[in-house]
Amino acid sequence: MTTIAFIGLGNMGLPMARNLLRAGHLLRVFDLVADSVAELAREGATAAQSAHDAVIGAEIVISMLPASRHVEGLYLGESGLLASLQAGTLVLECSTIAPESARSVHRAAKERGIHMLDAPVSGGTAGAAAGTLTFMIGGDPAYVAHARPIFELMGKNIFHAGPDGAGQVAKVCNNQVLAVQMIATAEAMAMGVANGLDPATLAEIMRQSSGGNWTLEKYNPWPGVMETAPASKGYSGGFMAELMAKDLGLAQETAQHFGNSAPMGALALQLYRMLLKQGKGKQDFSIIQQLFIE
Ligand code: NAD
Repeated sequence: MTTIAFIGLGNMGLPMARNLLRAGHLLRVFDLVADSVAELAREGATAAQSAHDAVIGAEIVISMLPASRHVEGLYLGESGLLASLQAGTLVLECSTIAPESARSVHRAAKERGIHMLDAPVSGGTAGAAAGTLTFMIGGDPAYVAHARPIFELMGKNIFHAGPDGAGQVAKVCNNQVLAVQMIATAEAMAMGVANGLDPATLAEIMRQSSGGNWTLEKYNPWPGVMETAPASKGYSGGFMAELMAKDLGLAQETAQHFGNSAPMGALALQLYRMLLKQGKGKQDFSIIQQLFIE
């Protein structure tokens, strides 16, 4: 039984923390939203009054926050958590943030003898609830081995991507491919349907042909084609369009860091920004379908 501080109990963090709790670990939890803390406290976690309170006595600290600025705000600076953690504490930072931001937290952690891994996830809220997330991890392989039993309670694929920040690089590469596939699928669905095809028939033909891809397998953006997809539930649940836009922005920064060009990612980012301007940022990212329908 390990004492774990879990900070950030949003759409992803709450179900991830719940899986650790159910496995019998002692959880000290904190979020700015008191209701989320209270919900887990009712299930047996210890409600903390602040992030600093949450980490008292914790051997492992896990964070699942929205973006780079939240993570840097939590860990860095005189009032940041790194200043008060014991040397040897293991930090599993699971948010999706800029690789450079993750590396700056890694550097600060090393200076204090704190072991950190950047460990962003893929698999969405359903994967978080089912404990089937994919973890893409950057950092020392010895720490990955040490943390593996904890990751395995929340995920089924645990990848060591490489050194500090590598998990975040893998994550933005993956999400850029996902966005481009989603847009290409939405564009083709709209074109086929406008030309008289039945959406379900078109989706099945492409799925079984050379255009087949993850979005056609699991996440068709056309309403009614896949009962379980967010498109069939008014584009609710799933992965918010504004988070996809954030990830595409991180992908552009990552490409530019070493002078790479990523034109497909750049176009995908522009299309998602158009969607956000239409006020659709809080809906599932497959709502990009609506850009192609008059
Ligand atoms: P969310 O907005 O639902 O949750 C973030 C939580 O962090 C909120 O509850 C917020 O109150 C809390 N928070 C922010 N600052 C805090 C602080 N200083 N101290 C304590 N709590 C704080 O977001 P989410 O959907 O859970 O996503 C979290 C991360 O996971 C993001 O980086 C996102 O890109 C990534 N991600 C999300 C999904 C998804 O499907 N939602 C999938 C993969 C990865």
